[in-house]
Amino acid sequence: MSERFTGSFTQQEPIPEAGIEAATEMLRHGRLHRYNLTPGEVGAVALLEQEFADFVGARFCLAVTSGGYAMATAMRAAGVAPGDRVLTNAFTLAPVPGAIAGVGAVPVFVEVTDALTIDTDDLAARAGGAKWLLLSHMRGHICDMDRLMRACADAGVTVIEDCAHTMGGAWAGVASGRHGAAACYSTQTYKHLNSGEGGFLVTDDADLAAHAVMLSGSYMLYQRNGAVPGPEAFEKVRYETPNMSGRMDALRAAILRPQLAGLTAQCERWNQRYRVLEAGLRGTPGLQVIERPGDEAFVGSSIQFLLPGWQGGAVEKVLARCLARGVELKWFGAAEPAGFTSRHDSWRYAPAQHLPQTDMVLAGLLDMRIPLTFSLDDCVLIARIIRAEVSAVWQGVAA
Ligand SMILES: *Cc1c(COP(=O)(O)O)cnc(C)c1O
Repeated sequence: MSERFTGSFTQQEPIPEAGIEAATEMLRHGRLHRYNLTPGEVGAVALLEQEFADFVGARFCLAVTSGGYAMATAMRAAGVAPGDRVLTNAFTLAPVPGAIAGVGAVPVFVEVTDALTIDTDDLAARAGGAKWLLLSHMRGHICDMDRLMRACADAGVTVIEDCAHTMGGAWAGVASGRHGAAACYSTQTYKHLNSGEGGFLVTDDADLAAHAVMLSGSYMLYQRNGAVPGPEAFEKVRYETPNMSGRMDALRAAILRPQLAGLTAQCERWNQRYRVLEAGLRGTPGLQVIERPGDEAFVGSSIQFLLPGWQGGAVEKVLARCLARGVELKWFGAAEPAGFTSRHDSWRYAPAQHLPQTDMVLAGLLDMRIPLTFSLDDCVLIARIIRAEVSAVWQGVAA
């Protein structure tokens, strides 16, 4: 009988007790709106904003309803206008091109490399007058940020970062999200902090911050926010900026604050699991692990590997055989979008593009979540199962 893994790939850890207590207290008094405060009280959302700004080292932080909302708001606040072309990664998830479409702009996809990061040369080639890049650090892979920022500066492109998978990560010692004009994070259940839904926008730009705060639906109460510029930044902005409600509520902030306090330790736990999986997969015939650059401090909340040059049918066999043994892998090469996974040719509201390099990488790209409910032993077992099933199919193909 072959070994089977019986854990759940979608089961996260419980909310810390301190978060449950804070949330319960809040439910008892009922003041869940971020601006519903007693005299002199600093709200939970404002405290969280200050704490998150400190965590990444940003001047300003705004807590909002989702990562997708943060991206759309960052683009609007930065000045992206309807019809503008916005460069973005061809390898990302649907909320990224969705946020671009949401502001009436046009997604322009840039090829991915086999390190799963944006191809900076292709970026320069496709920029063609585009002024914006929504850079998605997809699955936590961070490109050479120094090179990318130079290329964007040369091309006159403003960078907004999607850090949904890099909260807690860094490039060459600089926190992920501190390179671009603004950065966006998600606190949706499957990301690094869990409030069901939620997000952050950070920036050092006072004007961008003031616009974002007004857009989020601050009314004239913006000085109750936690990490906002002073009143002077709002003088004109407050009359000119539409209210597009997307505030975070106090209940989510209450459960996020203790999680944020423990985030660095959690990132370490993700990386321990990642390293065990990576070591177990390395050297499997026909399988290529993704080598991580020395400058990249990543958060291993998921793992990817390549089956380069494999036929689709053989990849599907690996998926089915792993699933039969309890290991859920996602494939980015599937023709049809499924579950949370889709790719550029399924986003048909965007102009179709020829992306041969991306298509080749995605055809062999497998992806797996690493919830912290997995033990290190679980990771040893999962790697053993993947290794056995990839080897079995590989041998069958080679025979
Ligand atoms: C989840 C995710 C987002 C947005 O997050 P939501 O909070 O669900 O809107 C953005 N980018 C990527 C790559 C994501 O995976």
